[in-house]
Amino acid sequence: MISKRVQSIKPSPTLAIDAKVKTLKQKGVDIINFGVGEPDFDTPKNIKEAAIVAINSGFTKYCPVPGTPEIKNAIINKLQRDNNTVYLPEQIIVSSGAKHSLYNLFQAIIDPEDEVIIPAPYWVSYTDMVILAGGKPVIINSTDKTNFKITGDCIKKLITDKTKAIIINSPSNPTGSTYYSNELKEIVQVCLENKILIISDEIYEKLVYDNFKFTSVVQVSPQAKDITILINGISKAYAMTGWRIGYAAGNKEIISAMTKIQSQSTSNASSISIKAAVEALNGTQEYLEIMRKEFEKRRDYIVDRLNAIKGINCQKPEGAFYVFPNISAILNKSFNGKIIGSDIEFTDYLLDQAKIAVVPGSAFGAKEHIRISYANSIENIKKGIDRLETALKNLI
Ligand code: PMP
Ligand code: GLU
Repeated sequence: MISKRVQSIKPSPTLAIDAKVKTLKQKGVDIINFGVGEPDFDTPKNIKEAAIVAINSGFTKYCPVPGTPEIKNAIINKLQRDNNTVYLPEQIIVSSGAKHSLYNLFQAIIDPEDEVIIPAPYWVSYTDMVILAGGKPVIINSTDKTNFKITGDCIKKLITDKTKAIIINSPSNPTGSTYYSNELKEIVQVCLENKILIISDEIYEKLVYDNFKFTSVVQVSPQAKDITILINGISKAYAMTGWRIGYAAGNKEIISAMTKIQSQSTSNASSISIKAAVEALNGTQEYLEIMRKEFEKRRDYIVDRLNAIKGINCQKPEGAFYVFPNISAILNKSFNGKIIGSDIEFTDYLLDQAKIAVVPGSAFGAKEHIRISYANSIENIKKGIDRLETALKNLI
């Protein structure tokens, strides 16, 4: 009954863990959720009010499929203001989340057997979305020894006549690693020479620490913009995960193909969320810094705590709200006579015994790690890491 295409993919592991945690919480189990990646802050008030005005004024009908002129202008202004790059309205499409933008993009560019290079550790949905579009994910592994980054030389080795695109996600989910402008420049050069499209997922752009200056892929050389589809959204920066607004910017033929797909599937993103997104992008930006500073404090706290635990080795990432500690020294220890032999068994153990939810590294193509989202209050982080520490003491 179910198509082979669908049988070839798995459900999103991050959302599956979040659903499990929410069910346990509803049953009254006291779980600390380090699983899903979503800001714990509330959406700022001015943004909510813009949505209420949209409802009350009847802005509740279909909109143009790729977004209203108003939201496109807000995005164009944002890209000029923050990323110093000029786009035209026909180079922008607004979708129901950055995930949806990525989905449309893969459907628009991939022919059967086309290859997409994906640096690992990667966000859970890239590989399955490529497969669903009929393409082939080609994974480049990177480790904590290179700060989970790849270079132009790594890419060169994997290029074939089927290579269509590469995904760059900086700051990265799950590692938090962030590329410097000169590192991006080298990658862009290889892609230009080999006519490879760059899909630059910049959704964590606003969450960078230690005075790191974010640079968009499109900024690193004059030709970079021509070969890049920039993906961004408002979920992470403005604490708006549930509103479902993301966007893509780039080559107008590709944007037009994405619009065609969207016109035959979901039509426009929610009109009410579009109005809220206009306010997010055009209104005051002052709370971005408040949230960023709070995330930075939590990152500093969690990294110090984790590295003080025997068996855990955690890098201090410069972006996003994840840490991705190496847990290989813990694997093959046992609890009550049962060996914990994999990252999945370890995360199950943490959920059952310590009541903390984290995501196994294998979901991101790195099975010696776990992902911990610190988009949680300092009190909860403290409580959760205390529990982790106790759970590890119980392993022999
Ligand atoms: N890209 C990355 C790297 C992500 O972590 C997420 C998380 N949700 C998304 C894209 C999609 O975000 P959204 O659909 O909420 O805009
Ligand atoms: N991107 C977030 C995460 O990795 C949200 C869940 C999802 O969309 O997969 O946890």
